[in-house]
Order: sequence, then structure tokens, then C-alpha cells
Amino acid sequence: MDINEQYYEDFYFSLIKFQYRFYRDMAKNQGKIIFKDIGFPQELILGAGLMPVIVESMIGLLPPTLLNEKGFDKANSIFYDTGSCSFHRLALSAIHNNLVELPNAFIGLNACQEVVNDFFVISNEHQIPFYAVDLPYERTEDAVLYVEKQYEETFEKLCKLSSEGVKYSKLIETIKLSNAASNYFRKANSIRKEYPGLIYGGPMLKFVNLVMMFGTEGALQVAREYYETCSRYAQSGERKVNLKCKILWCNMGINYDDKFYEYIEKELGAMIVIEEFNILPEVEISTDNPFLGLAKRTLNTSFISDARLRAENLVKLANDYDVDGVVFFSHMNCRFFNSKFNILKKYLNEKGIPIIELSGDCIDKRSYNRAQLITRLEAFVEMIS
Ligand code: SF4
Repeated sequence: MDINEQYYEDFYFSLIKFQYRFYRDMAKNQGKIIFKDIGFPQELILGAGLMPVIVESMIGLLPPTLLNEKGFDKANSIFYDTGSCSFHRLALSAIHNNLVELPNAFIGLNACQEVVNDFFVISNEHQIPFYAVDLPYERTEDAVLYVEKQYEETFEKLCKLSSEGVKYSKLIETIKLSNAASNYFRKANSIRKEYPGLIYGGPMLKFVNLVMMFGTEGALQVAREYYETCSRYAQSGERKVNLKCKILWCNMGINYDDKFYEYIEKELGAMIVIEEFNILPEVEISTDNPFLGLAKRTLNTSFISDARLRAENLVKLANDYDVDGVVFFSHMNCRFFNSKFNILKKYLNEKGIPIIELSGDCIDKRSYNRAQLITRLEAFVEMIS
């Protein structure tokens, strides 16, 4: 595969730099580090004067020596069985082996049971507090109030941990930064809707990591760059490739073979025009009651929501972005996402939207077979083009 044309935009490198600097500061922030899952709002941790470390993004923190076969074997040999999600298996074995600092607390939403189980085990082992937020299945007004109350209580516990006392002013500042970044992000996504193929979507699969950092100055800056780039391209009429077909990508993707995305977008012409995880709920967090706003946002985040809401959201996205087909990437051993595939497939097919499931592990490449994935995608692209 010989690919020379520029694939990564400058704002992509800004994200990498920002993440690097953010996590490099872990050493300076000892005594303030909170490990969290993808779902719990980072604004509550930042607002309490603490540092959120997202376990699913933690891969970037780990030494390369751990990200090899031996590293996984070591993780498997402790107590994280091979039937569990590799994000947690690897990150928690790194804690177990003193490769990263112990956090001051763990926080997880009980949307993914894996998170709750793993955090519970490791927090017990090291006698570190673990706060679990109970997320109801229903999306009712009562459910919003129930989550709001838990967020408020957890924020107060976090403030005690940070020994800064309860500082609502810091939380409000964080919410303002988060809202501003969300607005840029939504505006950029809207431009991509209007001009399909404006930027490549493969690199955008990493931007869920940025969304999880909203509430910081650094994330706001990258979100602004994303918007400005899309805006500039839209005005200049610049396009990346001749589209053969437009793809909506669900879930994350593989982290270790960027050439795979380059190939499907540039060579196959199957452009990822939007990524499900980069779509933000249309909820502006009010600074008058941030806990309520954050609870509404959580319950309206379709990929951690019930299958029906997620299916409806995918159909809406497919129509809004006028896609020809949907790629659903099943991360190995992720019971939370993968168990919903058949429901989503049935719903999308009823609406006449083709969907394909690709399987692999986002971070463990031991059983990766690029050729196999490409063969499946080529057949799908032929069918929907
Ligand atoms: S099991 Fe799925 S939802 Fe849970 S941490 Fe792993 S990838 Fe995320």
C-alpha cells in the first residue's frame, strides 16, 4: 500500500500534543489523580481541582514494552482473565505492576459492568476509594433527577478528596470551557454534514479522547482548530477524494494500524463521513445547575444509552449525513457494546440502511488480520456503492 497524500490534519497533531502534555502532568499531580471510565463526566473531577485519567485513553500512557505480547500475557497471568476487555486488562495490570501511579480514587458509571468489576477489585486491593454511579436503564425525568443527585454527591466527595473544599466557581469555569468546546465540535460536525468528504474520518476515531477532556483549555483549543479547519475547507471548496461511498463508523476502531483507515478511505473511496462517538448530545450544560445538565447529557448520550435510543440515533445520523452504509466495529470481549449489535442491525435494516460488523481488538493486535478485514469491507463497499 503506497500512500503519500496528506491524511492527517494539523488539528490531529494538536490533539496528540495536548494529550501528551496533559498526561505528562500526572507526575506533577500526584495526590490528585482520579481514574475514571469513559462515561463519568470529567467536568466534575476537573471542577473539584483533580485530574481525570480516562482508563480507555490510558493506553497512551503505558510504556511500549507493555503493549506487546509479553505485556498482555503478563496482564492475563495476574487476575484479569482473557475474556475481559483489553483496555481494562492492560491498564489495571499496569497499576498492579507499579507502572503508573496509584490514583486517589476510581469512578465509574455502571453502564459497563466491566468497569465496575475491575475498579472494585483493584480499589479493594489497594484500599483506594471507588465511587460507582448507578445509571438507570430508563430515560425518564425521575432517572435524570436520580443521576443528578448522585453527581452532586460525588462532586462533594471529590472536593473533600482534593482538600480544596467545595468550589463551585471552579466547576462553573470548567462547565463554560466544556460548553465552548462542545459548540465548536458541533459546528464542525455540521459543516462535515453539509460537505461530505471534507476531511478523512479515520483519524477522527481518536477524537473521542478529546471529547473526554472537554472542560480544559487545551481541549477547547483543539476543538476550535477542528472547526476552523472544516470551515476553511468548506469555503475553499477543497475535497479529499472522489467518494465511492459514505460510511458512518460506530464504536471505536483499531489503534495500531492507521494504514488500514488510509487504505479504505483513499484507495477504496469509502469515506468515513461521521463517527458515532463524536456526536454530542444537544444539551447545553447550564451553569445555574451543572449537575442537572450533566445528568441530562449522560442520559442522552446514545452509545451509553438503551439500545432503542442508540438505534434511533444511528438512523438519524445515517439520514442526516446521507451515508450509504454503517460499519459497526466490535471490540473483542466488549459485552456492553457488542451485545446490542443484532438489535441495531435489525432496526437499521428495517429502515433500509445496510450495516456490517467488523470484529477485532482495539489495542491488542495479536489476532489482527488486516487483509481479512479489508476483504470484508471491499465486499460491503461493492454492495452499497
Ligand atoms: S467493555 Fe466495552 S464499554 Fe466496557 S470499557 Fe471495555 S470497551 Fe469500554
